[in-house]
This record gives sequence, C-alpha cells and structure tokens, in this order.
Amino acid sequence: MRIIQTIPEMLQQVKAWRHEGLRVGLVPTMGYLHRGHASLMKAARAENDVVVVSIFVNPTQFGPGEDFDRYPRDMDADIRKAEAVDVDVIFSPSAEEMYPEGFLTYVDPAELSTRLCGASRPGHFRGVCTVVLKLLNLVQPENAYFGQKDAQQFLVLSRMVQDFNLPVQMHRLPIVREQDGLALSSRNVYLSEEERAQAVLLHQALTIAEQLYADGERSVEVVHAAIQAELRKILLGTVEYVEIVDPVYLLPVERLKPQTLIALAVRFGATRLIDNTILE
Ligand code: AMP
Repeated sequence: MRIIQTIPEMLQQVKAWRHEGLRVGLVPTMGYLHRGHASLMKAARAENDVVVVSIFVNPTQFGPGEDFDRYPRDMDADIRKAEAVDVDVIFSPSAEEMYPEGFLTYVDPAELSTRLCGASRPGHFRGVCTVVLKLLNLVQPENAYFGQKDAQQFLVLSRMVQDFNLPVQMHRLPIVREQDGLALSSRNVYLSEEERAQAVLLHQALTIAEQLYADGERSVEVVHAAIQAELRKILLGTVEYVEIVDPVYLLPVERLKPQTLIALAVRFGATRLIDNTILE
C-alpha cells in the first residue's frame, strides 16, 4: 500500500492508472477508520482494479466552535485497517495542500444545505461539496463510496455529481452498527459511559418508527410523536431535530411512503450524533 500526501504525486499515480486502463474506486473519509469505513473499502475493493481511501479532516466543513481541533486522528491504526482490506493508496494531503493561500472557489449546494444538519451547521455542506469535488478531480474515480449514515451528505453530493455532470458512479452503503444498534462513528469515542448507554435510543427510536410503518401506520404526526417519546428518555442529551422528509429535496412529506427518509440528530454536550432510516 502506498501513502500519498501531495497532489502532484496523486495526479501522477492517477495518470499511470488511466494509461493502463484501470478502474479506480474512491472512499473519502476523515480517518479514525472503523467497520463502517471498512464496509465501504471492501465494496470498493470488490468492484475496482485500484482502491484509494482519502483521509483528510477537512477544515472547511467544520464551523467555528465545532470539533475540528479535537477530531480523533490515528494514522498508524488507519494504515493497518486500510492494509487489512487491501487498499492500494491512502491519500492524505495536508490542509495547506488542499487549500493553499488564495483558495477562493466553493461549491454551494443551495437550499439542500440549509435543511436537517445544515440548519445547525451553516457552511458544512459547502465545505463537504468543495472537498469532495476536489477529491473527485484529483483521483478521477469511476466509482465513489459513501455511507447511508450521512444520508444528507450522500444526497447533496449526488445532486452535485448530477448538476455538474461529473463522470463518477455514486454508491451508498448501509449503516454499520454496534451490536446494540448504535451507528458506528468516529465521534462515539467522545461519549462518556452514561452517554454511550443512552445513545442506543437513537436507533431504538428509528426502529419503533420502522415497526409502526411495517404495521401500516402512514401518519407523519403519529410516527414523529412516537420517535420523540422514545428520544425523551435521553436525559443526558438534547434532540436537535427529527425530520421525516422526501429523499431528494429533503422536504417534509405528508404521508409516509417507500423511500421516505427519517433522520435525527441528538447532542450529548459538544458531541453530535446522527442516525437515520429509509423506509422500504
Ligand atoms: P467520515 O470519516 O465520518 O467522514 O465518514 C466517511 C464515510 O464513511 C462517509 O461516507 C460516511 O457516511 C461513512 N460512514 C461513517 N460511519 C458509517 C457507518 N456506521 N456505516 C456506514 N458508513 C459509515
């Protein structure tokens, strides 16, 4: 496995691959890899000749006062985990490499960036789109892999790919969870033991919603109330939002139907957890 830290080196490697006609898969991450990331890397491995995992804690997607400085990092462990699933290249540029002095141009995902997570994280999706567009340009993958864990991120990025006619196939992989249901996240390490115990309620609330839907319930109000009732048991956290929306524009739906997205965010102190489900 090669570790590439500069843009010229990455471009040179990509040029060589293209010359050989190899199919490239990209998995963009912020590192501190876990089994969620591993599922994306494995999917990429299965469907491509070469696999690039980018590890870049992207400063432009963090707002002032967010956890950019304390975001967990462990490059040695990440290298081992990427090697274990046969990744070809880790691309981990510095912030200066990605945003040199004079950097000016950003991708603005408009209204999509103001809903759900965007409401409390202004500028977040602008940063996400900008960095992912740069990564797509640098790595030029046929396939790019993302987790449903960040459902809004996938929608916003898919919109960008469509709107800008980017020649990449977007793949969305299911949420990987702990045994008790908590969605894996690099941020879970921030949780105290008590918070960790209560964090399972995010998934439990979504499971209740799924069950109501499976039993034939179609009322948004009823399902919303049931989720809120479960989340009220989270005494150490505050609910930021519970949204029941369509899967394209993220606007509230009138009735539940297949593909409706139920997404929620809960804050435990400075730690923000998200989870979601897409109704079948
Ligand atoms: P991150 O490093 O948190 O920015 O995540 C990088 C990619 O991994 C994103 O596409 C995430 O949606 C995905 N990911 C993170 N956690 C999970 C999970 N528990 N299951 C599946 N994918 C995940």
